[in-house]
Amino acid sequence: MLTLKCAACRQKLWKYRKYGQGELLRCHKDRITKVFSYETDGDKVCCRCGQVVGIDKGLFIKMVHKGFTAKGTKINT
Ligand SMILES: [Zn+2]
Repeated sequence: MLTLKCAACRQKLWKYRKYGQGELLRCHKDRITKVFSYETDGDKVCCRCGQVVGIDKGLFIKMVHKGFTAKGTKINT
């Protein structure tokens, strides 16, 4: 499980079940297991400090690489 944090203020955003060891480019919404805090502005997904962390694409969030940090374990497939 990965815990995603805002790169600007370190606020926890959500926990995510990441399959495979690759870079986190997308977060599929059905694999977000716990939400701590985030806000939306149109299709932008933001931290409450205003940092944009991703773009809502419907079934998944396309992550903005410099907007977040992720710590934890990825699941081998
Ligand atoms: Zn923030």
